[in-house]
Amino acid sequence: MRLVIFDIDGTLVRTGKTNQVLYERIFREEYQINLAELDWTQARFSTDSGLMPFIFEQARGRPPEPKDIAKVRRLFKNYWQEYLATVSPRQFAVPGAAKLLAMLREQSEWGLALASGGWKDLARVKLGGIGVKIDGIAGAFADDAQARTRIISLAIESARRTYKTPVFERTVYVGDAFWDVAAAARLGLAFVGVGSGETADDLRSSGASLVIRDYTDQAAFMHALDRAPVPVHRDAPLD
Ligand SMILES: [Mg+2]
Repeated sequence: MRLVIFDIDGTLVRTGKTNQVLYERIFREEYQINLAELDWTQARFSTDSGLMPFIFEQARGRPPEPKDIAKVRRLFKNYWQEYLATVSPRQFAVPGAAKLLAMLREQSEWGLALASGGWKDLARVKLGGIGVKIDGIAGAFADDAQARTRIISLAIESARRTYKTPVFERTVYVGDAFWDVAAAARLGLAFVGVGSGETADDLRSSGASLVIRDYTDQAAFMHALDRAPVPVHRDAPLD
């Protein structure tokens, strides 16, 4: 059996700048912190769980308390739900994503897993926005680790349990950002990039040689899974 692992934000759903806009709002309103003023060159992680300690250390000189994390997570989820009530699934989906996941769940040649740098309850909300239920899908999330490479490794372990398969013949990671390319390179995984325009250019310049626009052509995507190479490792500032 082979395994395909999907990032979520920007890869299956068009999150755009919404995560950033909502975090900026929450930290401005609740903590009077202007995220634009932080020294982002010092950030190590691109994940929700890696973001919180970075922001609190930078702006307050201390780690976040559990109540801070709980508050930010609750508001972030509420604001995401409010936002999703204003956009249609058609607008929010990367075209063909829901149908592709449904097809992958029906066949037995490829195992399916999710690896998201976002919180799991947010993954449920966001994929719910395109009619996809995550229950029963293997995966790992920001709840499980701060580093994306660790989250992807945990997603592979989750898939091993789900499919009762000790080793996958081939594992392909699908993502939309330079940190996804870097994670695949570090882990020695084949990589398919998803995006168009500037996003596709960024992916290619980060080392992704195979980039698709969306999932409307399922046969083309499955072909990409078969032939995608492991990206050449290049240093990336975020994990
Ligand atoms: Mg992404």
